[in-house]
Amino acid sequence: MTAVPTVRLNDGSAIPQLGFGVWQVPADQTEEAVAKALETGYRHIDTAAVYRNEEGVGAAIARSGIPRDELYVTTKLWVSDFKQGGTKQALETSLGKLGLDAVDLYLIHWPAPADELYLEAWKALEELRAEGKTRSIGVSNFLPEHLDRVAEVGSVTPAVNQVEVHPALQQRRVQDANNKYGVATQAWSPLAQGAVFGDQPILDAAHAHGVTPAQVIIRWHLQRGRILFPKSVTPSRIEENFDVFGFDLSDAELEAIDALDRNERTGADPATFNPS
Ligand code: NAD
Repeated sequence: MTAVPTVRLNDGSAIPQLGFGVWQVPADQTEEAVAKALETGYRHIDTAAVYRNEEGVGAAIARSGIPRDELYVTTKLWVSDFKQGGTKQALETSLGKLGLDAVDLYLIHWPAPADELYLEAWKALEELRAEGKTRSIGVSNFLPEHLDRVAEVGSVTPAVNQVEVHPALQQRRVQDANNKYGVATQAWSPLAQGAVFGDQPILDAAHAHGVTPAQVIIRWHLQRGRILFPKSVTPSRIEENFDVFGFDLSDAELEAIDALDRNERTGADPATFNPS
């Protein structure tokens, strides 16, 4: 089976660099999709309470028979559960749905910066880590100013910051802040949900290596050192997105994809997104 590289996080733990994401996977298709991913060789699953499919992830894990210590499971805290008691209860609820005693990584899903309740949530995550309910803690959609506030108030540095990154939105300011704090960057919507498959440098590299645009983009993220978890419910694409270890993009190909950055989001802007 393919050996997926791991990334060493700032708390010493290791995370498989390529995983499987389940946002927008309907609850009744999640068990099948995750089971297919695990059969294919993925060992890192990215879900969230708000995706409403943690039970399906848990069912696939239970059915797989894969030893727990060979799996890496991430879930996320929703904004409505930021208050101290709410955060601890939210992780308990997620663990119950996943059928796990602990997750590997627990993330604050969005900063929702209109108030600064994410700082209260961060302190609760620090306690949850100390209690062994999650091996690592991190954040998602945090801008540099939110990382600065966590650094001022917290006693643990986030292990990761999961942000939208793909060829059309490369978030260099955020990635620089992550690097400054020793926070690993996880790329969400790494394929821009298909929006960049027709970009010429991606088509050229796909042609040169006899692979698909999706495989080129996954390879670009891997070679740039980011952690990613593309999503699909189509079995052939689940396999295709994992079959990315037989070729290398050249420096020129990587740089041509770097040059596609045009500040084009597929999702919300964390500066102004304040869901409740
Ligand atoms: P993605 O960039 O992984 O794109 C997924 C879509 O691309 C699929 O629905 C399909 O339409 C297409 N696709 C996938 N593989 C393909 C292939 N081989 N060929 C052709 N088309 C293909 O987008 P995503 O699902 O938004 O992001 C991936 C994961 O990131 C999510 O599942 C979730 O785990 C995470 N995420 C996190 C946040 C956050 O706020 N933290 C937000 C969005 C996504």
